Amino acid sequence: MSLECMACQLTAGERELIGGCIFQTEYWVVEHCVGTLGVGTLILKPLRHIVGLADMSDAEAAELGPLMQRATSVIKALSDADQVYACLWSHAEWTPGHIHFVLQPSWNALRSRYPGPGPALQMAMFTEARALDPQAMQAFCARARSAFASEHPKT
Ligand SMILES: [Zn+2]
Repeated sequence: MSLECMACQLTAGERELIGGCIFQTEYWVVEHCVGTLGVGTLILKPLRHIVGLADMSDAEAAELGPLMQRATSVIKALSDADQVYACLWSHAEWTPGHIHFVLQPSWNALRSRYPGPGPALQMAMFTEARALDPQAMQAFCARARSAFASEHPKT
């Protein structure tokens, strides 16, 4: 853990994390995104403080694919999204940071409100900086926690 890392602080409970831990494996954790990308956007990050995908251990890498599949399935089922994005930048202020995948539901109907899908949608949402509704976040996290608990991983 890095003492100055927001990702580590959120996981360790040293910063407020609405909705708390949704799901955790040996090496990865799923939490709600704290950025302004809408309710239902989750973060998938390694518990270990690593700042690049190349730094993953073999065991961390082996867990990633199945967990990415599970997490995006949960998001899609709960939000009825047309697509679930998965992106990883971890380069705030041009400094490599604790890697975290942003798993974001998106709907075709957003075309009437935003300039474009994918990165264009995300930039517009960050610019818009619409505050997330904490109650809606809590509710989504509770539903997601139940969904993770009730499903069985594919083998
Ligand atoms: Zn960290």
